[in-house]
Amino acid sequence: MNEMGTGPRPFLKVDLDVEVCMDSKIDIAPFSTFKQRDNYILAVPETSAWCILDSQGVELAHEIEQTQNFGELIQATQRSPEDLVSFVHTLYCCGVLSINGKYVVNKAQFETYTKPWLTMLLLHLTDRCNMKCDYCYTPASEPTVMQFDTAQRAVATALRTPADFLLVIFHGGEPLLEFPLIQKVVDFGYEAAEKVSKKILFRIQSNGTLLDEEKMEFIARHYVDVWISLDGYQHINDGCRRFPDGSGSFEMILKKLELFEKVNIPLPRIVTTVTSLNSSNLPKIVLFFQKMGIKGIKFSLFFPKGRGHAKSEYTPKGLEVAASYLRIVDYIEQGKIFEIAVENLLQYMSNILLFDKIYPCLRDPCGAGLNIVAVEPGGDVYPCDCLNHPSFRLGDVSEDWLSELRASDVVKTLVKRSESLQCVDCGLKLFCGCGCPNRAFWSCGTIEKVEREECIISRLVIPKLMYKIATSPLIRKYFEEWRLGKEFEKVELEAAL
Ligand code: SF4
Ligand code: SF4
Ligand code: SF4
Repeated sequence: MNEMGTGPRPFLKVDLDVEVCMDSKIDIAPFSTFKQRDNYILAVPETSAWCILDSQGVELAHEIEQTQNFGELIQATQRSPEDLVSFVHTLYCCGVLSINGKYVVNKAQFETYTKPWLTMLLLHLTDRCNMKCDYCYTPASEPTVMQFDTAQRAVATALRTPADFLLVIFHGGEPLLEFPLIQKVVDFGYEAAEKVSKKILFRIQSNGTLLDEEKMEFIARHYVDVWISLDGYQHINDGCRRFPDGSGSFEMILKKLELFEKVNIPLPRIVTTVTSLNSSNLPKIVLFFQKMGIKGIKFSLFFPKGRGHAKSEYTPKGLEVAASYLRIVDYIEQGKIFEIAVENLLQYMSNILLFDKIYPCLRDPCGAGLNIVAVEPGGDVYPCDCLNHPSFRLGDVSEDWLSELRASDVVKTLVKRSESLQCVDCGLKLFCGCGCPNRAFWSCGTIEKVEREECIISRLVIPKLMYKIATSPLIRKYFEEWRLGKEFEKVELEAAL
């Protein structure tokens, strides 16, 4: 039989000297299998342990379910003890099997990896924007703007959580329209965080068109991270991302990127909205950005909200997105993509390779209301930026929303959400996170469902990625290099080990 285990996961201490003898008790955790070429992924839904086996290996895994100890296994299978020791050992190292009651990781250990503290505060500074993109998620209603005292209260409250760091994200509309407010909040945030000995990080999610030298100097001096929206090369980007006069944003953004060099900071990460217009071209888009010197790209799948509500034809097909993601994986394996972090794939890889699920959007329950809250311009608090429907309101910045957060019906519902979903028996749930409630709400009208296309993407991409991780050193190297280069996630990761 052929067993291609992932071996011990990186950063996990495994007792490799654990001995197997005739009366060793051997238990395999409840598992699911997914066919992948001529092999099978065997995944443990309780802990996200997994390995790759051929059909004989899967048969043997089922034999282990029926037997009490190693001696019985030899009798039942008539295989050589040496082969079986090697098989049992591989499965033990992957975490799917216990020897004498000892797992590399068990359910209780696994649950301690997720720290349910608020670490991300999204400040929706304004609904105003200087652009008028076809698919914009902001409402068409009268735009509002956040006041400084609203932002100040939100930051001060969020710094009261036990987490040792806080990421504050400014978004909109276009947050750079409120740049003086950003400056005041950054100055206040650094001072407030220092008083409580915490690390604070700031990020601006922007369309990039309002950047200028003065803003860039502040951004560079205060270590503010910037992510810019750009949907690909010119004709794709300008098809949706337009100014009110109908002209596209591509050329202007390219000019603005030169400002990053001028102030001597790395180019920003790019957020690409994936629509039916660009979903087949994602690999080319990644190559294009890599050539420009961009170091990171995140794909954000379009969903019909705000002005985009009338544009449901932009919803990308899961099959097309998955095919694009898998071609990107092929390009990584072929060494064509190596200098740009494709966040969505790295997040899947992180969930596949690490027991600690560090991404709030890829865990169950997701980070909404647990690790993340979003504050609207008027001060209303919601569990996530796009879950800003009145039915999810958590309170107001002037109230003590933090102490009540866990006890709120909204957060309790979000935490229990997956229990009533199709995901409950899915072997991929700890790798996929059961889909975004926010997408489900705006696409299906309820968080009690999973948006279909998102599920298709996870089902197609995750098993294939597991297979590639187990068989391709270049894929693992890509993950390792990215992981070692990322300061922010390292903070959480090191704290967990
Ligand atoms: S998608 Fe962003 S840049 Fe485009 S109109 Fe909406 S807020 Fe502005
Ligand atoms: S609601 Fe969606 S976007 Fe927000 S944390 Fe959950 S998965 Fe992520
Ligand atoms: S969304 Fe789909 S792939 Fe993910 S856990 Fe649910 S059923 Fe499984």
